[in-house]
Amino acid sequence: MGGGGGRLGDIAFEDRMATVDFRVGERAHIVVDSDVCRSCTTRACVTACPANLFAPTADGGILFNYEQCFECGTCYMVCNGEGALTWTYPDGGQGVVFRQG
Ligand code: SF4
Ligand code: SF4
Repeated sequence: MGGGGGRLGDIAFEDRMATVDFRVGERAHIVVDSDVCRSCTTRACVTACPANLFAPTADGGILFNYEQCFECGTCYMVCNGEGALTWTYPDGGQGVVFRQG
């Protein structure tokens, strides 16, 4: 938080979300790259997810319970720098995929 850049970030995020067009019933899945998570030092998703769907595992990975995800986008936002999260829409026709790198 803080700094003049935060506002720009908010706009970019809203813009990104606008392209997603939330629709209840459309199955969206978030894929977590455990290899990236193992080297992650922040574990920001664990505390950021309002539904507590990310759980650290004993081997340093992340267990993600996607079935209860309501697609708020918070995890993607906080993990943006790590690049571990990929949003995929297997049933949708839009083919929207957020991928880092
Ligand atoms: S999902 Fe992102 S923030 Fe969470 S542990 Fe993995 S790399 Fe870190
Ligand atoms: S989109 Fe929201 S509810 Fe779903 S896993 Fe990410 S932070 Fe949790």
